[in-house]
Amino acid sequence: QKEIHLANRPEGMPSASDFSYVEREIPIPGEKQVLLKTLYLSVDPYMRGRMQDVKSYIPPFKLNEVIVGGVIAEVIESKSEYFRQGDVVIGNLGWAEFTAANEKEIRKIDPSVAPVTTHLGILGMPGLTAYFGLLDIGQPKEGETVVVSGAAGAVGSVVGQIARIKGARVVGIAGSDEKINYLKEELGFDEAINYKTTDNLKEALRKACPDGVDVYFDNVGGEITDAVFTQLNKFARIPLCGAISSYNLDGPDVGPRVQSAMIKTSALMKGYTIGDYAPRFKEASEYLGGWLQEGKLKYEETIVEGFENTPDAFLGLFKGTNKGKQLVKVADP
Ligand code: NDP
Repeated sequence: QKEIHLANRPEGMPSASDFSYVEREIPIPGEKQVLLKTLYLSVDPYMRGRMQDVKSYIPPFKLNEVIVGGVIAEVIESKSEYFRQGDVVIGNLGWAEFTAANEKEIRKIDPSVAPVTTHLGILGMPGLTAYFGLLDIGQPKEGETVVVSGAAGAVGSVVGQIARIKGARVVGIAGSDEKINYLKEELGFDEAINYKTTDNLKEALRKACPDGVDVYFDNVGGEITDAVFTQLNKFARIPLCGAISSYNLDGPDVGPRVQSAMIKTSALMKGYTIGDYAPRFKEASEYLGGWLQEGKLKYEETIVEGFENTPDAFLGLFKGTNKGKQLVKVADP
């Protein structure tokens, strides 16, 4: 069996040579452990941060060790009283075809409620991130205008739909015409802007948001965010969820400073990481699950087939090849 290690700390945009494939014996589970066969792997933008040796809210990946992320797997053999062969579980586990995991590292998921992959997407970390950032920090009111960047991705697509459920007018920013159509035609966004083909994003935003911007859910930072800041209304709220435009920069990010725009509009900008909300995960899961069942939330997954394509799927996040949640299918159950 193979696992994928971090071979180098990437400078700028990572490349295939920053990853190495290492052949290992299939592990033998010890007491209170299970042997897992990986079914799906999640690739996520935050993993880029863990490739750098810097202090953050989560420790860096170690060089020449297996990369760890969200994994859905099947129990092949169990030495735990809590799991049986055939159970499907989720955990933060290695990019490996087979893993021996401690019983405390994994949680059982019920494949009869929703497809198992939703636990890495709309019902998992990205869905919860959308829910808390938008509702706790953004607090959209009926009739207000919500702008979301990275709108067709795993988090952004959920943000826009929840904002619609709350009665807001929703404008998405994304990087292809196909994504723009998807947002407007399938997810019910009121407007959507392709930032890659618009010559003047500020002007496009002014047109798309005639009443200004009350909530800006920021997934990307950089020039897109600079443009949205010119359109803020008084008492705007800005959940800072991600800044993907800066993750592969070699040096510090530079750009217009935000202080004046924030003072003039009495805006509130707040960063967060999803772990901050751990005590309230159950609440979010219930709402997200309910909206999904009622058909008020839709989701898309971009699934790359084959364990060996995991690095490519990860790199695709920075090129925008994914619509909705990017996953890798490693094996059939
Ligand atoms: P996505 O599914 O949105 O995938 C990333 C998308 O970002 C791409 O599809 C691409 O879409 C867009 N993108 C890539 N590079 C750029 C760029 N330079 N400028 C603008 N857009 C770009 O990922 P997630 O939904 O998983 O994550 C979205 C954001 O939320 C990320 O910044 C991530 O780090 C953050 N995040 C934060 C969490 C938290 O706890 N605070 C938790 C989870 C995610 P396009 O075609 O539109 O360019």
